Amino acid sequence: MSLDGTYDDGNIFAKILRGEMPAAKVFEDDHVLAFMDVFPQARGHTLVIPKHSAARNLLDEDPAVLAKLILGVQRVARAVRAALKPDGLVITQFNGAVAGQTVFHLHFHIIPRWDGVALGRHAEGGMADPVELKALAEQIAAKIS
Ligand code: AMP
Repeated sequence: MSLDGTYDDGNIFAKILRGEMPAAKVFEDDHVLAFMDVFPQARGHTLVIPKHSAARNLLDEDPAVLAKLILGVQRVARAVRAALKPDGLVITQFNGAVAGQTVFHLHFHIIPRWDGVALGRHAEGGMADPVELKALAEQIAAKIS
C-alpha cells in the first residue's frame, strides 16, 4: 500500500479499538491506547495508537491528534523504561508498505534494547505467549505516571 489511499477501518488496530480483537493493554486515556506488540522485536515491545483517528500514517494525521499521541508515546516509553530497565529504547514509526508499514492505522513502536541482545527483525518474529504479554503489560502499566 502506498502513502496515498483511504483509511480502512477493517484494519487490526481499528478492531482492537472497537473491542473486536483482544490486546494486552498497557495504558489508555481519552486520546491514545498502548498495548503489547504480539510479534515483538524485543521483550516489552509496545505500540501506541491514537484512539480517534482515521490517519493511515504520520503524514495524514491532524496535528492536534499527533500532539496528544507523541505525549502518550513519551509517557508509555517512560513507563517501559521504569518497568524493564532497558539500556536504550528505539522508537519507530513506518509510513507506507515499502517503508515497512504493515498495519495502516498510525502507530508508534517503543522497543526496549539491552546491551548484547540483538534486535528482532520487524514484522518477522514469532508470536509472543499471551500470558507473558499480559504480565509485561501489567508490569509497564504499574509504572505509568
Ligand atoms: P507496522 O509494520 O509498523 O505497521 O507495525 C505493525 C505492528 O503491529 C507489527 O510490529 C506487528 O507485529 C504488530 N501487530 C500485528 N497484529 C497485531 C495484533 N493483533 N496485536 C498487537 N500487535 C500486532
